[in-house]
Amino acid sequence: MSHSNAWLDDVHPSPYVEQLALGFRALRFKQPLEREYRAYLLEDSIELRRIALSVAMALWLAFAALDFVVVQGAQVWWMLVVRLSVFALLAICAWLIFKRDLLRLTLPLSLLCVLALGAGAALVVGIAHRADPTYPYEGLLLISMGAYFLIGLRLVEAVSCAMLVCLAYVAAEVWVGLSAPQLVNNALFLLFSNLIGAVGCYLLEFKSREHFLVSRLMQILADRDSLTGLHNRRSFNRQFDRLWRQAQREGRSLALLLCDIDHFKAYNDCYGHQAGDAVLQQVAGLLQAVGRRPLDMAVRLGGEEFAVLLYDICPEEAAKRAEVLRASLELLDIRHERSDTASMLTMSIGVACIQHGGEGRFAHLYEHADRALYTAKASGRNQVVA
Ligand code: GH3
Ligand code: MG
Ligand code: MG
Repeated sequence: MSHSNAWLDDVHPSPYVEQLALGFRALRFKQPLEREYRAYLLEDSIELRRIALSVAMALWLAFAALDFVVVQGAQVWWMLVVRLSVFALLAICAWLIFKRDLLRLTLPLSLLCVLALGAGAALVVGIAHRADPTYPYEGLLLISMGAYFLIGLRLVEAVSCAMLVCLAYVAAEVWVGLSAPQLVNNALFLLFSNLIGAVGCYLLEFKSREHFLVSRLMQILADRDSLTGLHNRRSFNRQFDRLWRQAQREGRSLALLLCDIDHFKAYNDCYGHQAGDAVLQQVAGLLQAVGRRPLDMAVRLGGEEFAVLLYDICPEEAAKRAEVLRASLELLDIRHERSDTASMLTMSIGVACIQHGGEGRFAHLYEHADRALYTAKASGRNQVVA
C-alpha cells in the first residue's frame, strides 16, 4: 500500500498533506486530525449503520423462525426467549440510532448491538447444542463480518467486538460441555475466518482514511491559489455570499479592500517572472497579516490583484488597515527601478464599506472598491482611496 507522494511536494502545507506524507499504517492520525476523522466517520457511516441494523433485525427474526424447523423439543422455546430479548434490545437501540439528535450515542449503541447479537447467538447455539450438536454455529461469523464491513467501525473496535463474540461462543460451549477436540476445531475455524475479516477491515479503514485526507486536501486545493496559498476568486465568491448573509443577520458591517501592485508588468520585465512570483508571495503574507481574524479573508483575485474582506469593521478602521497594508509593502523596500512613481515596489488600494446590515449587493461593494482603486491609480498610485 505504498504509493508515490510526489504530487504533494508543491502543495501548500496543511495537516492533511503532513499526514499523507507521514503515512498512517498504524491507522492513527496525529491529533487533532484523528478527532476530525472520527467525527467524519461517525457522520459518514450513519446511513450504513441504519441499513445494517435494519437488515440485522430482519435476519435475526428469520433465524428465529428457522430454529423451529431445525430444532425439535423444548429447547427451541428457550432459544426464542433469547432471540426475542436480543430483538427487544436491538429495537430500543435502533429507535435511539434513528433519532437524528443523538449522533454521539450511535457508536456505543452500535457496539452494544453487535455484542448483544454475538452474546445472544452464542447462547442460542449453546442451548441448541444441548439437544442437537449439529446445530450450525457458523452463523456467529455473520455477526463478526457485520462488525468488520457493514457498520463503519474502526479496526480496533471491530476486532474487539469479534473477539468478545468468539469468547461468548467458547463460554457457551463449555457450559454445554462440548468435547474439547470439537470445541478447539470450531474455535479455530472462527478465529481463522476472523483473521480474513480483520485483514479486510484493515484495508477498508486504510482506504477510508486515505479518502478522508485526499478529499479534504482537494477541497483546499480547489479553494486556494497555488502560488500564494490565499483564497482564490472561486472561494471568495462562495464565502462572500455566506459572510454577506451573516453580516445582514447580525447587523455587522463589511469592508472590501481591493489591492493592485503598481507597475508590476515593468517589475516582471526588469527582474524576471520568478522574482515577480516571489514578490506576490511576500505581498500575500502582508495581506494575511491584515485579514487575520477568523471571519476576515485574504484573496488573490488573479495576477497581481488582491482583495481583503474585513468583517465587522467601521469605515475609518478599514481605511486605517488599508494604510497599514500599503505602508508595510513600502517598508519592505523592494527595489523597483522601472517604477514611475517610487523607487520601491508599491501598491494602490481602493476601500469600500457596507455598514450595519445596510441594503446593497456584493456587486455594489465591489464596484465602489474598484472605483476607489481606479482613483488611487489615477492620482499617482501608492495610496489608499476610501
Ligand atoms: P498598474 O500600475 O497600472 O497596475 O500596472 P501593472 O503593470 O501592475 O498592471 P498590468 O495589469 O498592466 O500588468 C499586470 C502584470 O502582472 C502582467 C503580468 O506580467 C503580471 N502577472 C500576472 N500574473 C502573474 C504571476 O502569476 N506571476 C508573475 N510573476 N507576474 C504576473
Ligand atoms: Mg498593477
Ligand atoms: Mg492589475
